[in-house]
Parts: sequence; structure tokens; C-alpha cells
Amino acid sequence: MLVTHDHSGEPALSPSLEQRAVGAYVGLAVGDALGATTEFLTPREIREKHGIHDRILGGGWLRLKAGQVTDDTEMSLALGESILAHGGVEDAAVAEAFSQWMRTKPIDIGNTVRRGIVHYRSTGETAVAMNEFDAGNGACMRSLPIALFYCDALHEERVQASRAQSHITHNNPLADAGTETLVEMVVSALKGLEKSLLETMALSLVSRFPLYRFDKRRMENPSGYIVETLRAVFQAFFSNDSYQDILIDLVNRGGDADTTGAIAGMLAGAYYGEERIPHHWRKSLDIKTMLACRDQALGLLAQGRQIDSTQY
Ligand SMILES: [Mg+2]
Repeated sequence: MLVTHDHSGEPALSPSLEQRAVGAYVGLAVGDALGATTEFLTPREIREKHGIHDRILGGGWLRLKAGQVTDDTEMSLALGESILAHGGVEDAAVAEAFSQWMRTKPIDIGNTVRRGIVHYRSTGETAVAMNEFDAGNGACMRSLPIALFYCDALHEERVQASRAQSHITHNNPLADAGTETLVEMVVSALKGLEKSLLETMALSLVSRFPLYRFDKRRMENPSGYIVETLRAVFQAFFSNDSYQDILIDLVNRGGDADTTGAIAGMLAGAYYGEERIPHHWRKSLDIKTMLACRDQALGLLAQGRQIDSTQY
């Protein structure tokens, strides 16, 4: 097993692929539950209300129970279940899974997501038309199952799967490029690549789409626009040295905090592994959600690898 050094300088065992996979999924749910409390608040409002927001309290504009998650985690689980049931992304099966999820009257659902699902229900089509206004973060936030299942697949196959699940609700080149980059970064983090290499991947996105440029100036109130979401995630991920610091940095910026929390949570969870997600956060998470995330992370990884070894 590789020995690395954590931010305190202590030697630490490098997490296994399985620990990183579970870390990514639990990290996503923790970020969602933590960030939901401060969604749509400004940093000033957060300071007045919480000082520094660093506990899973529930509340927020959705009036959540402590440990409850939102659409970011729920849609990921719906996508993952469909992948497991069909041995990969099948457009119609995923669209149906999203539609079934909408029937459960979710606590939150984005406008673009709702519109895409309604489009599928009324036409049977599994892709919306290309739309310059669909550059929201709704497809990116649910993309972790792609990274886990297609972890060992060819890059092109992963891109195709990512695009297919995305286009059910969001069809936009900027959103596609951001989501695909995030998926590649999560796959690399699962495989234990260094942060400097992940940064190269983010910078390659910036070179193709300069709107994604992330500078040192701390971005506050990141919106649901994928460019703002990912810029904030990149800033926090590359300027902090632990899962905890990355998440606290992000959820105290307010804005679309459950989704910036969820996306940074999956990336940082994959990078640092489950053990490095603070225990009190993992303990605060709704237990059923926690178990579903763990099971699915391991299931997607195992089934994806099996299929992969028979194909290549
Ligand atoms: Mg949400």
C-alpha cells in the first residue's frame, strides 16, 4: 500500500479504490446535507446566523431534517440504480428512472430538470434539444455513478454515457464540457492521482472554455450556472488541504450551496477517501441514505469492472 503524507504532515495510508469510491458517494451526500442549510443565503447572512457553518443541522429554505439530502443525492441514486439494473446507461431506462423519481414528489427539483422530465413524458424522447440557456448544474450534480461504473472504461465510452444521462434534461456544450471534466477528475481521484494532475485537467477545460477560469479571488454566492458552480468548486478544492476545509469553505459562500457542496464532496471524497470525511458529519447523515450511498458505490464499481474485463 502506498504511503503518502496528509496536510498535517503525518504519514497516512493511501485509501483503496473501494474506500475512495465510498468516500465519493458519502462525500456527495454529506456536502448536499451540509450545504442545504445555507442555500440561497449570502456569506453575510450565514455569518450572522451561524458564525461559521460547519455542522449538519438541516433547516434552510427547504426546512430539512438534520441529515436529510436533496435532489443532488436523490438523482444520483436514481441514475445509479438504473445503471445497475441495465448494466450501463440506457437512455430510456435512465429517463424513466428520473420520471419515477419525480413522481415521489421530491423535496426540491430544478426547473430545467423538471422541464426535461416533462419533455420525456410527453414525447418519449430521451434528449432535449440543444439550448444555450440549459447551462445549469443539474446534470453535473448527479454524474458520480458514471465515474464509478465507467471508471475503467475507455474515455470515449465514459463521455458518451455522461452525455446521454445529461441530455435527458440539459443539452448545452458548456455544461457537457464541465460535467465531463468533473467526471474525468473524479475517475483520476479514484485512481489516486495527485492534485497537481487534477489541476491540469481543470486548466485544460479553462483553455477550451475560458469562462471557467478560476482565479484566487474567492467567489461568493455561486449560482446554479455550471460555470459559477465549477469555478467555486475548483477554487475551494485547489486552495484547501482537507475534505473538511474544502466543504466548510464552500458552504459558507452561500448561493447554490447544496450543489457546490455535493460536487466538491464527491471530488474531495474520491481524493481523500471515506475515512477522511469527518466522523461527526458521516454520523449525522440520514442512515438510509448513508447505506444506499455505500452500497451503490461498491456495486457500481464492482459491476463496472466486471463488464470492463469482459470487454477489453
Ligand atoms: Mg439540491
